[in-house]
Amino acid sequence: MADNVDNEEIAKFEALANRWWDKESEFKPLHDINPLRTNYIDSKVSLAGKKVIDIGCGGGILSEAMAQRGATVKGIDMGEAPLNVARLHLKESKLSIDYEQTTAEAIAAREPEQYDVVTCLEMLEHVPDPSSVIKACAKLVKPGGHVFMSTINRNPKSYLFAIIGAEYILNMLPKGTHEYGKFIQPAELNNYSRLAGLETKELIGMTYNPLTKSYKLNAKDVSVNYLMHTIKS
Ligand code: SAH
Repeated sequence: MADNVDNEEIAKFEALANRWWDKESEFKPLHDINPLRTNYIDSKVSLAGKKVIDIGCGGGILSEAMAQRGATVKGIDMGEAPLNVARLHLKESKLSIDYEQTTAEAIAAREPEQYDVVTCLEMLEHVPDPSSVIKACAKLVKPGGHVFMSTINRNPKSYLFAIIGAEYILNMLPKGTHEYGKFIQPAELNNYSRLAGLETKELIGMTYNPLTKSYKLNAKDVSVNYLMHTIKS
């Protein structure tokens, strides 16, 4: 496939999909950070009434949280099993979300400048060319609209925390979930964003404390997990 999709990456998420909503599963970190990131996004854009697209939505943890706050949400992902789980979960949550199996690039060609808010969280480190996804995010959002991205920084500390710690010591994630070489430094993400016509408003870290087993937003520490808020100029 000529698309910007790594089929091995998609297969990893397909294999785990049935546990997506199990808060004690491999997806525990996503459940744990979800209130933090949803509150952050809501504080910047006031989600109620906004038209949002969630790129690489997986089983829909973030998509649902945003719909819960009154946004009209579409979720796209290339994984079929995660999308099936996401659709099934709507029966439980009684929310309405439009899920579609497609790529960011394809939906951007079809629906340019249709969205107030674009979210692309914990996804860019799984694609062959993240800059192409960022361009698609920039195309999807209306002028003046917001794009939120999150990923993992690339440095010795992030290698130690996000791979050795999370996959080998704490067993929070299956071994092989992340590939060090695909991690993205904030300066790189900033550069891709700028080239796509997005202006960076804020860079904020999400830090994990293994003792309290909790995450918090931390503006001073973007050394491992971080979020970026950008606006289309
Ligand atoms: N954004 C969600 C899920 C993150 S897991 C959250 O933060 O809760 C990463 C997701 O990206 C998986 O569901 C995987 O299937 C999807 N993905 C990976 N590469 C993709 C691509 N090229 N296009 C669309 N989705 C992709």
